[in-house]
Amino acid sequence: MNRNRPAGEQPVVLIVDDDDVQRLLMRETLLACNLLVEEAADGREALAQFERTSPDLVLMDVKMPRMDGFTACAGMRRLAGGQDAAIVLVTGLDDFESIQRAFDAGATDFITKPVNWPLLSHRVRYLLRAGQAFRNLRRSERRLSIAQHIAGLGNWDWDIDKDSVYCSEQMYRIFGLEPDGTPASYKKFLDRVHPEERESILDLVHKALQARQPYRIDYRIVLPDGTCRNIHEQTDVVFGAAGNPVSMHGTVQDITARINSEEKIRFLAYYDALTGLPNRQLFLEHVNQALFTAQRDGSKVALLYLDLDRFKRINDTLGHSAGDKLLQEIAICLADSIRSSDIVAKACLPCKAGVSLSRLGGDEFTILLTGLAEEDHAARVAQRILELLSQPINIAGQEVYVSGSLGITLYPSDGEDVDILMRNADVAMYHAKESGRNSFQFFSDHMNHRAMEKLGIETDLKRALERNELLLYYQPQIDLTTGRLAGVEALVRWQHPASGMMKPDMFIPIAEETGLIVDIGQWVLHEACRQAMQWRQAGFAPPRIGVNISSLQFKKQSLASLVRQVLQTTGLEARFLELELTESAIMQNVDDVTDTLNELKEIGVNLAVDDFGTGYSSMSYLKRFPLDTLKIDRSFVMDITTDPNDAAIIMAIIALAKSLGLRTIAEGVETKEQLQFLQEQECDEMQGFFISRPVSAQTVERFFVANEKFW
Ligand code: C2E
Ligand code: MG
Ligand code: MG
Repeated sequence: MNRNRPAGEQPVVLIVDDDDVQRLLMRETLLACNLLVEEAADGREALAQFERTSPDLVLMDVKMPRMDGFTACAGMRRLAGGQDAAIVLVTGLDDFESIQRAFDAGATDFITKPVNWPLLSHRVRYLLRAGQAFRNLRRSERRLSIAQHIAGLGNWDWDIDKDSVYCSEQMYRIFGLEPDGTPASYKKFLDRVHPEERESILDLVHKALQARQPYRIDYRIVLPDGTCRNIHEQTDVVFGAAGNPVSMHGTVQDITARINSEEKIRFLAYYDALTGLPNRQLFLEHVNQALFTAQRDGSKVALLYLDLDRFKRINDTLGHSAGDKLLQEIAICLADSIRSSDIVAKACLPCKAGVSLSRLGGDEFTILLTGLAEEDHAARVAQRILELLSQPINIAGQEVYVSGSLGITLYPSDGEDVDILMRNADVAMYHAKESGRNSFQFFSDHMNHRAMEKLGIETDLKRALERNELLLYYQPQIDLTTGRLAGVEALVRWQHPASGMMKPDMFIPIAEETGLIVDIGQWVLHEACRQAMQWRQAGFAPPRIGVNISSLQFKKQSLASLVRQVLQTTGLEARFLELELTESAIMQNVDDVTDTLNELKEIGVNLAVDDFGTGYSSMSYLKRFPLDTLKIDRSFVMDITTDPNDAAIIMAIIALAKSLGLRTIAEGVETKEQLQFLQEQECDEMQGFFISRPVSAQTVERFFVANEKFW
């Protein structure tokens, strides 16, 4: 039933009366008002007409046969769309009881008999207009309600004088309440607000009324089933002429979906997906916040930088998913211990204790301690972390042991801002690694100085090759039976423009860290072979030239093809070249190493294990590799004449080498006694200061005099 007739269409009025004359008069009056008129002679007929014609207005007599006006009125109201029509009952003048009954039956209005005809048309027009306005209002209310439903928006008004609250249907719905017909109460809604947030809302309301401050606030509500919703509320207050608050108005919006997606975005931006820990971004924010507080109240902050030792090896051997699992396990374990650890609690001042754990990426974690009581308490936390890491972790049925190295910086003593603190913690962590891993180190200025120096060397070293600042020194190697020259070892030097001649331990470790060693090593190999060839062409004949090879060259380069190419371009025969490889270089990735060594052996070069005895050699590998020489490390040679243990070790190494068919060269021979001892033990060759320090190419030439014996 459509009562919203298009504009300009005539309204329909239904006249109901059993008195024909009365009906006629009414009709004539209404037709004169340009209305469409329908008629019925009693209540029952009226109901049928009502359904058929959907009138805008019904003018109905009360007393009628078959069905009276009250019953018909009530019946009409029950019909679909029956609420929208105006129903006017026509009663006797002083029949007050009828008037009351008319309203009870749902009548809009009444008029009394005898009807005042001139007035009737005005009354009818007014009622039609009011009906239209009423319908428009209902329509816009419906529209508003739909819009509010879509937007999850509700509203409320509070009449302060009357202390009555109105709440929209949508507001009830958002708060999970039923509009039960009783007046809305502020308390009912406030009860739904999360207990932690009630106080601040009441506070805001108070301020709004006192200080005339409209407010907006986000808070949480808790529904009876325990689910939480996020609400954004905005209010305003209307004040009377005397400045007193008259009413307050507010909108509430359900912003749960928005907050949830913001949370998700925030999680992605601020947390590490693998471990769920705060990531670098959030960590930096935490630090900044902590520094701000510490600066204000003069407290101390410690920053612990943890890097797992040899994590890469775990990744390489067990695979990346095992590596991931391990990181997750470690994250859980660290987080648990930090949460429950009373060590952390004791380390911090009771009132401002704070600790937060983050993962910076890879195998790097950071722990921030705020409100630190004593600086050295950070050490206790570090110690606890190391102990924790020393427990085996089960990954895919396998017990994995990890350790970590920790660097610690303190605010304010080690730095004023997060960048410096982080950099210094990193420096301290590297220092911990260098001093044997599985330990922690506090940052010190000395360390910083060294780090700066290293950085300087790194920068300069990059240019050293281009500027031809590298050169080779040579150290003679003497045959212990004949006393004649057996070979020379090429040892790199750096003629630094400012610092002068630099020994390899100043820059080779940095070159290895930065990968520059690959280029440097290539240059050394080429230069040594070129020099050897030049000597041969000049008629000198150093029997053999030793060149040190870094483990990185072994891994990163195709060493065999490099050697082949260098020998080809310089023209040196392979048998004159000996490559010195450290134990640690050849004991990694044994399968690959075996291939490379075999390939090198095919080329015809000699292969020596350098600094033998300082690393971990597996006998079975030593047997498997095509080696020629063991170079006994200087540290064993040093005390052979005074320390029986060292003497015993040297004897064992020489015996071992003999059984494997390898030549032995003792390094670092400085005295005649050492030399004699080695001769007695039938060590094959020696090198050391006793004969000569490493010297320039030109200087070493004096050792080439044919057949000269050196003792
Ligand atoms: P290394 O291969 O074990 O070399 C022997 C080192 O012992 C040389 O130090 C040599 O000067 C020193 N030495 C020789 N005899 C004595 C002695 O009687 N007493 C004492 N106290 N020392 C002696 P250098 O030249 O400083 O080289 C140190 C290390 O640097 C070498 O140890 C080697 O591992 C590395 N290295 C040198 N040149 C190169 C290179 O071209 N490439 C690579 N990758 N590493 C190199
Ligand atoms: Mg060497
Ligand atoms: Mg050596």
